[in-house]
Amino acid sequence: MERSGMGDELNYVPTDRATLQTKVKENIFAIGDATNIPASKAGSVAHFEGEILLENILRYIKGEALKEEFDGHANCFIETGHGKALLIDFNYTHEPVTGTFPFPGVGPLSLLKESRMNHMGKMAFKWIYWNMLITGRHLPFVSAQMTEAGKVFDE
Ligand SMILES: Cc1cc2nc3c(=O)[nH]c(=O)nc-3n(C[C@H](O)[C@H](O)[C@H](O)COP(=O)(O)OP(=O)(O)OC[C@H]3O[C@@H](n4cnc5c(N)ncnc54)[C@H](O)[C@@H]3O)c2cc1C
Repeated sequence: MERSGMGDELNYVPTDRATLQTKVKENIFAIGDATNIPASKAGSVAHFEGEILLENILRYIKGEALKEEFDGHANCFIETGHGKALLIDFNYTHEPVTGTFPFPGVGPLSLLKESRMNHMGKMAFKWIYWNMLITGRHLPFVSAQMTEAGKVFDE
């Protein structure tokens, strides 16, 4: 397969971690597994990056200042077996936090803690993925940037 020549020594595209503008050409922006930013190579990261990428491409075309807003946010279920799962939420500056999601103090999902409810959440996400995410609808209670409500942050 022919390569673009945009990759670094590991073949990741050098990219600004906050604006998602590449450092190779100012009119090229990058998201997902292709970038060299210090975020997880995960579907949720590519999804959250997409919101900032779209905004910044439109700003670039209009000659406006880019938003330096991507914070490395990742939010992922991890199946742990026996009908349970973990839910992890983190960004560039915070290791996976504890707390509740999406409702502060209520949940029903618990962060960084194995539970049956998290597994149910993962199963429900299958429907949400195919019927909302892929169709481009906004997901309620989930934001591109990591929110602090209901989460415990160690200093
Ligand atoms: C086995 C596995 C399990 C995973 N499980 C999870 C999970 O549970 N949760 C999670 O959040 N993430 C998971 N991931 C990671 C997630 O799939 C990736 O982070 C995400 O798909 C990255 O999206 P992307 O659009 O950057 O790249 P991709 O989804 O890889 O899309 C890149 C596309 O570009 C195409 N392409 C490549 N080269 C060219 C070319 N030269 N010309 C044209 N097209 C080209 C490819 O065919 C592909 O369709 C998993 C990954 C793997 C491999």
